[in-house]
Amino acid sequence: MTTNTLLKVTGLQVAYGGIQAVKGVDFEVHEGELVSLIGSNGAGKTTTMKAITGTLPIKAGDIQYLGKSIKGQGPWDLVKQGLAMVPEGRGVFTRMTIIENLQMGAYIRDDKADILADIDKVFTIFPRLKERRDQLSGTMSGGEQQMLAMGRALMSRPKVLLLDEPSMGLSPIMVDKIFEVIKDVYAQGVTVLLVEQNASRALGIANRGYVMESGIVTMGGDAKEMLNDPKVRAAYLGE
Ligand code: ATP
Repeated sequence: MTTNTLLKVTGLQVAYGGIQAVKGVDFEVHEGELVSLIGSNGAGKTTTMKAITGTLPIKAGDIQYLGKSIKGQGPWDLVKQGLAMVPEGRGVFTRMTIIENLQMGAYIRDDKADILADIDKVFTIFPRLKERRDQLSGTMSGGEQQMLAMGRALMSRPKVLLLDEPSMGLSPIMVDKIFEVIKDVYAQGVTVLLVEQNASRALGIANRGYVMESGIVTMGGDAKEMLNDPKVRAAYLGE
């Protein structure tokens, strides 16, 4: 593993009006890592992800990507630079078919032949999407929509993939499938930042982890060590 820092978040603060949701957060993600950000409901994980991907304004602090500040840049610019996000709740285009959603994921690209090849790759990862390529995505199950949201993000050929609660609301079999795919995508060289409430699964596949509580990072370190930490086990693994 290299220690080339891809994402560096320093002193990040984000507020919704008078409500300070993120209160000075520091963490980093190195190239070739899978980093999991865990924490209970309302800890500020989604807010942090939205600030990184330019969908929420930053009140204070900085976010660097590839050594440069990306503060103030919108999602469009960031996707072009290789930073893609699968949002909580999937965010698929419900009135579009699966194939149209995948094509939308490649909107920053104009290499038609490669786009078709990448759609085939997504279909290899998720055969279910291939079977239903012409179905409106709004009529699919939550698990299928999660597959589509991940497939759509992969269509931008990201350097870093940010995943917000990909296992939320899914059946145990679908959770297994989604975690398998995260491992595969990571194994293919995509750096991953994963936000999850399923702490044991998230730390189980990560290199490093961070814990967020009430808007701050309270702990960070090697994921396997965190999995064995009695405090983490008591607070997040139900022991
Ligand atoms: P969850 O797992 O429940 O999504 P989280 O760790 O992702 O939790 P956030 O969704 O980032 O937490 O929420 C952090 C805090 O910000 C919470 O107190 C939440 O109520 C508040 N918050 C989130 N979105 C808004 C909003 N649009 N307006 C006002 N407050 C918000």
